[in-house]
Amino acid sequence: MKRRIGLWLVLIVGWASGTSQSWNLELDKAELEQHIRFLASDELQGRYTGSLGNRVAARYIAEYLKAQGCEPVDGADGYFQEIPFESVAPPSTASLKIGETAYELGKDFFLSNGGAANLEGKGIFAEHGWVDEKAGVDHFEGLDLEGKVVYVWSGKPGSRDPQEAFAASQLKRKWAAERGAAALIEVYRLPFPWQFLLNYLNKENLVIADPDNVAANLVYGMVNEKSDEPFEQMKNKKGLLTSLQTSGVNKRSMRSSNVAAVIPGSDPELKEEYMVVTGHYDHVGVGKQGGGFPYGQDSIFNGARDNAIGVASLMLTAKAFAKDPPKRSVLFLALTAEEQGLIGSSYFVKHPLIPLNKIVFNFNTDGAGYNDTSLVSIMGYDRTGIAELIDQGAETVGLKVVADPAPEQGLFDRSDNVSFARKGIPALSFSPGFKAFDQALMKNYHQVSDEAETLDYNYLYKYCEAFIRTARLIADHHERPFWVSGDKYEEAGKKLYERP
Ligand SMILES: [Zn+2]
Repeated sequence: MKRRIGLWLVLIVGWASGTSQSWNLELDKAELEQHIRFLASDELQGRYTGSLGNRVAARYIAEYLKAQGCEPVDGADGYFQEIPFESVAPPSTASLKIGETAYELGKDFFLSNGGAANLEGKGIFAEHGWVDEKAGVDHFEGLDLEGKVVYVWSGKPGSRDPQEAFAASQLKRKWAAERGAAALIEVYRLPFPWQFLLNYLNKENLVIADPDNVAANLVYGMVNEKSDEPFEQMKNKKGLLTSLQTSGVNKRSMRSSNVAAVIPGSDPELKEEYMVVTGHYDHVGVGKQGGGFPYGQDSIFNGARDNAIGVASLMLTAKAFAKDPPKRSVLFLALTAEEQGLIGSSYFVKHPLIPLNKIVFNFNTDGAGYNDTSLVSIMGYDRTGIAELIDQGAETVGLKVVADPAPEQGLFDRSDNVSFARKGIPALSFSPGFKAFDQALMKNYHQVSDEAETLDYNYLYKYCEAFIRTARLIADHHERPFWVSGDKYEEAGKKLYERP
């Protein structure tokens, strides 16, 4: 008798305080396994963005969310946010000469933009090709770029940051195109190996088609010439002849979408606020290490850990929330093209289906794998004032929390949560348990061995429950999460939400 009264009391107190401890969550283990096994199946061919397997995965997720009763979002096409991708492959043939030196395509230089061209004449050298009106800097000043091949040092002046170098490159192309240049070639001076850059850029890559891009036809690439000499010559009066021929990059449009669906919140006020649950469903496809298109041998990158586990967790969260919605509204967003450079999430924050300042949190899931089944690993654990909720969610199923493991990997800034964080939205990334990015983890990370058959579903069942319970606690929490003082995204957050 006594015990029963005790139980009732717990239930009533739990109900009255709205905590999730008493929240009745029924998880179907077989269903969790089903989603992971399907998404990571050989038939989906590694879910490379734009491939059939990728689109089948998106369809599977969308139909599931619909069947649970999740609602489509205004501005999307049903449950899809289509992204206008363009696949750009290197030109079939190209040649480059500076003075008497000839460079080999795919070895000494690459071209990643521009149509067919046959250019010959004096080369123009324009330092870093940088313009900063406020600082009175214009490296193109006094130069006639019209129809010319223009050489510039790679990178942003005064910065050794690779990300800044890539962003700077976009600006330089725009400035050069506006000034009439026919080609812009950056001279490689970046603080990481040329071969690394070459492997990454001298292959088929996906970009978002942009009809307003003034540099769409500018021939662009990079050359690995270690000597400054030829460019010094371009600066002096005699100049230096250069020639550049290209058959033009090979472009084709590709279809792929984010999948988006909403469960409206149950609280009349808090339902105006949104938590976004994200997980990328794309992976690196079939082919050589690092992905690409089919390569003629059995080498399917199944991406069970990366990120079928996360997507299955997202799906089951939607199912649980649809039955019993949390106070805040929840947008479920299965993202594409994460592996191509966080493109799906970047596109979403540029074209948000929900105004960004109404999104109070991004609950992301992504995983390289796990090597400790007593843990969950959280990137951004104590950065937004909700560490207690994460602990509570994990404790319920007897898992411990590891905060920001492998700091040297910079994992917080390597998954889709960072697209939201950069806009100021508090975010975290929830991952299966690991303490370090060690051999045991690397064994399956972006490998063909990342298969559904090699997973521990007893652990994943607990992991998934911790995931759902933590998501629930945040979506129900009376206080909005916000960046702790001094966090690198705090300023962006203040701006977004107009906080003092
Ligand atoms: Zn991933």
